[in-house]
Amino acid sequence: MLEIKHLCASVDGKPILKRLTLSVEKGQIHAIMGPNGAGKSTLAKILAGHPAYEVTSGEVWFKGQDLLEMSPEERAHAGLFMSFQYPLEIAGVTNRQFLEAALKAQKKEGEIEKKMAALQIPLEFLDRNINEGFSGGEKKRNEILQMALFNPDLAILDETDSGLDIDAIRIVAKGVNEMRGKENALLIITHYQRLLDYIRPDFVHVLADGKIARTGGPELALELEAKGYA
Ligand code: ADP
Ligand code: MG
Repeated sequence: MLEIKHLCASVDGKPILKRLTLSVEKGQIHAIMGPNGAGKSTLAKILAGHPAYEVTSGEVWFKGQDLLEMSPEERAHAGLFMSFQYPLEIAGVTNRQFLEAALKAQKKEGEIEKKMAALQIPLEFLDRNINEGFSGGEKKRNEILQMALFNPDLAILDETDSGLDIDAIRIVAKGVNEMRGKENALLIITHYQRLLDYIRPDFVHVLADGKIARTGGPELALELEAKGYA
């Protein structure tokens, strides 16, 4: 599904990712943990096609296509979904307009109200501008609503759990677990083991100094929680 080979990337001329290699197969959930500033969000933004990040060498293949040659729109159409660490507020576009337009563009049908109920998002949020005035937890649930509706082949969640209380984490985890299936994959970037109590990953990686420094199973997350990254 996703094949990252020796990826090197810089921002403002400063190298951040240093020969990062990672392979994600269909049906798998990978968690990426690691210290602040290691390059986790940089990796996520490069996969989404953020223009500020320059890939200096390496390859990224998504469903057999050269991801780095694709525009962000093409990536989304190909089935890549990204939930940002800091979801943007978008003035002038309501949640309803956005969700309906996005579903139409992807030729998908979605039961918006039903998914909102499952994620405990009040229906009146449909007619509010995207994320405008939403609390941190509401923004994150809104991201998971998009994910649940678009049913992507690969979803990348960048610290979707940060700032959430335990009930909100359970709701987010429920959304993820409902989407989880044989045909899709997830890359979950998180600082905390607690999300992984609800979403059991197949692999846990430590991203440190721009590369994958360690890989293990779910038990690695517990070990990191107990001992730290050192
Ligand atoms: P993480 O998500 O693992 O905490 P990031 O990928 O956000 O780390 O950041 C990795 C490094 O890249 C940090 O030193 C950060 O300051 C730097 N960095 C990230 N984005 C930018 C940017 N737009 N401009 C300058 N430096 C950046
Ligand atoms: Mg980050």
